[in-house]
Amino acid sequence: MSATGASLPDDLGRKFISGCHILHYHRVLDAYGHLSVRHPMQPDIFIMARQIAPALVSALEDLVQYRVSDASPVDPSMTDGYVERYIHSEIFKKFPDVYAVIHSHAESVIPYGISGVPLQTCFHMAGFLGTSTPVYDISTLYNAGDKQDMLVRDTRLGEALADCFTNSKSESRSADHVVVMMRGHGMTVIAPSIEECVLRAIYTQQNASIQTTALMTRSAYRGSTPLPEVRYLNDAEAADSAVMTHWSSGRPWKLWVREIEQAGLYINKA
Ligand SMILES: [Zn+2]
Repeated sequence: MSATGASLPDDLGRKFISGCHILHYHRVLDAYGHLSVRHPMQPDIFIMARQIAPALVSALEDLVQYRVSDASPVDPSMTDGYVERYIHSEIFKKFPDVYAVIHSHAESVIPYGISGVPLQTCFHMAGFLGTSTPVYDISTLYNAGDKQDMLVRDTRLGEALADCFTNSKSESRSADHVVVMMRGHGMTVIAPSIEECVLRAIYTQQNASIQTTALMTRSAYRGSTPLPEVRYLNDAEAADSAVMTHWSSGRPWKLWVREIEQAGLYINKA
């Protein structure tokens, strides 16, 4: 067992690797994008894979522990990390009750970061989206001479992304949103557990796809009767649906683990 994985609780490494595989199987991640988890006993530490395609993460030796404070590796020899780990460190820093983060370039969500059309809750499985989804626009943050490759490559850019999740309730350090669109890039999803974060990422991707289909269906309509407004879920419907996916997130997780176990591509030695 590597030094990087030695102090993880028994099942966390295996669950983390399964999460990476599920996200690839469901096309939330391809060779890019990443999952992270906060260390349950050391909340100032988080864990990510080394710089590798998520589908190919297979052992504890592939995992790296980072400090929440500055995204530096706990083991200074572990330099082979994702450039965008600041997305994760700054969210863990701002929101103590967040235990898992996913950053994805899922194709279906991209239109909702560039078109000006807001992503809305289309069905009950995505009630956690609420009635608005913020957009992070990195172009407003560039300084003269900055590389403009859209990557969240330092703490300043990561902090600005974390701020998009907002915490309007002053007595709480919880986020108001659990998903943020990223212009010309993808999305970032937060949750209190790996299972729920994976659920939210998969159903956000599906919700975006459904919304696009609904809008295209409307635009193709040639009937003589005027169409009513699009009817997304309202506040109460979204909130009550979010409670449902929260308590039931173990059900799809078990299915998704079986799917990756049968798929042949994925190896989990943890
Ligand atoms: Zn990215």
